[in-house]
Amino acid sequence: MHYLDHAATTPVPRAVADAMYEVLTARFGNPSSQYPLGFQARRLVEDSRAVVADALGCAADNLYFTSCGTESDNWAIRAAAWHGRRAGKHIVTTAAEHSAVLEPLKLLEQEGYEITRLKPDRNGNVTVAQVAEALREDTVLVSMMLVNNETGCVFPVAEAAKLLKERKSAALLHCDAVQGFLKVPCDPVRWGVDLMSLSAHKIGGPKGIGALYVSGSLKNVRPLLPGGGQERGLRSGTEATAQIAGFAKAVELRRDHLEEKLARMAALKRYCREKLLTIPGMETVGDGTAPHILCMSLPGYPSANIVNELGEQGICISAGSACHKGKPSHVFTAMGLPKRTAAGTFRISFGPETEQADVDALYLALREHQSKRFPML
Ligand code: PLP
Repeated sequence: MHYLDHAATTPVPRAVADAMYEVLTARFGNPSSQYPLGFQARRLVEDSRAVVADALGCAADNLYFTSCGTESDNWAIRAAAWHGRRAGKHIVTTAAEHSAVLEPLKLLEQEGYEITRLKPDRNGNVTVAQVAEALREDTVLVSMMLVNNETGCVFPVAEAAKLLKERKSAALLHCDAVQGFLKVPCDPVRWGVDLMSLSAHKIGGPKGIGALYVSGSLKNVRPLLPGGGQERGLRSGTEATAQIAGFAKAVELRRDHLEEKLARMAALKRYCREKLLTIPGMETVGDGTAPHILCMSLPGYPSANIVNELGEQGICISAGSACHKGKPSHVFTAMGLPKRTAAGTFRISFGPETEQADVDALYLALREHQSKRFPML
C-alpha cells in the first residue's frame, strides 16, 4: 500500500498502540476512583496532559481533553458565543474553515448571529487585513484555522491575535489547529490565542481524542458537556484513559527529531509536486506552505474517479474533502477556482513514514489513469 493521505488520518506507531493496550488491560482504572488503581489512572491522565501541554507551550491546567477536534471546535465556538453574549452577535471566520467550525457557526446563524466569512484568494490565502476590515464593535469571536486541510495554506493566526489586542477588541480568538499542531509553528500562549483545538489522529495518535486549549485569562468558560464534572468541571464524561495515553505517546514520538521529520516531509512534497507537474495538464492548487499537504488538479479528470481507481491499486490519496456529494468543496468554490479545476482537485498528504517510492507509485498511476481516459470537457 502507498498511503498518501496523512491529513485524513495517520497510522498509529507500535509504541502508541502498546501504551494504549497497557492502559486498556492493566491500568484500566477510572481516574475518579478512590483507590490505587484509580489514583494510578488519574496520574496517567495528568502526566499525559503535561506532555501534550508542553508540546503546545502552555500550562497543563489550560488544556482539556475532548473526544475529537470536532468537539473542541464546537465547544470553543459555543463557549465564545456565550462568553460574549452581552457584547454582541457578530462572528468573523474564513470561508475555508473545516465543517467542524462552519456547521456550528451555521447553527448560531439560525439563532440570530451574523457571520462574516472571509474569502480566501485564488491561492487559498487569507490576510489579517481582511480580519481588520471585518472586525466590529459587536464582534464576539474570530475563528481562524492554522493550516487549511485542503490546500495546506497557513493562515495568519498570530497576526490576527495581535490585531485584536491592538484594537482592544473584546472578541475571543479561536484557532482550529488540528492540521497545524506539530507541523508548523503553533504557540497560542505567546500569540495570545484564547481557544485552540487539537486532534490526536493527525499526528500518529488514536482517533477519538482531542484537546482544547483555553487561555488562563478566560474566566467563566461554559462547558459543552455538563455532567459528572471531569476535566475540572468543564468537560464531563469518564476520561478516555487509553486514548489520552495514546495521544501523549504520539506527541512524544512525533517531537523526537521533529525538525528533521518536517524537513523530510517538505522535501517529499517538493519532489512530488515537481514530478506530478511533468504530467500534461497538471496544475498546483493554492500555494500552501505547510510541509505535509499538497493540493493538485488534473482539470477535466474528475478526482473522485482518480481516487477510486488509485485506491483499487492500493494508492491512498484524497478527494474526500475536495468533492463532497458531487459538488466541489466550499474551499475551492471560495477560492474562485474554475469548475473543471475544482472538480479535478486531489490532495496528497505526507507523514514521517512516507517514502519517495510512494510518490513514484502515485506518479505512475496518475500517468496511467490519464493515458486511459479522455478528459471530460
Ligand atoms: N479541523 C480540521 C482542520 C480537520 O482537518 C479535521 C479533521 O479532518 C477536524 C477539524 C476534525 O477533527 P476530528 O476528526 O478529530 O474530529
